[in-house]
Amino acid sequence: MDCLFCKIINGEIPSNKVYEDDLVYAFKDINPEAPVHVLIVPKKHYDSILAVNDEELNIIGHINKVATIIAKETGIDKSGFRIINNCGEEGGQTVNHIHYHLLGGRMLKWPPG
Ligand code: AMP
Ligand code: ZN
Repeated sequence: MDCLFCKIINGEIPSNKVYEDDLVYAFKDINPEAPVHVLIVPKKHYDSILAVNDEELNIIGHINKVATIIAKETGIDKSGFRIINNCGEEGGQTVNHIHYHLLGGRMLKWPPG
């Protein structure tokens, strides 16, 4: 499949790995919006969260767990952080392989633009 994040996961395209296990791969965003900006993606391809069926929902919990591990490793667990999933065109999704942004290391604005 011609998917940017599948290619990053299988090493065809280089990335700065932050974390990896059997289920997920995490790497630094190429265009960081904050001092810590990591993308956490399931190794299995899903176009978006809409494609995850009920039997596979454990992956979403696992991604949240991994986000807390990376938050602790990078020290933003103390200052605070945000986990974001952009879904679909108006949600701002530009890569059609589910990914969760982990952002921290500065004061983040709310509400989003
Ligand atoms: P989204 O807009 O939510 O779909 O997020 C896609 C993210 O992927 C953006 O923050 C991009 O900066 C990031 N991105 C695109 N290409 C790469 C790449 N080759 N390596 C790392 N991050 C990337
Ligand atoms: Zn993919």
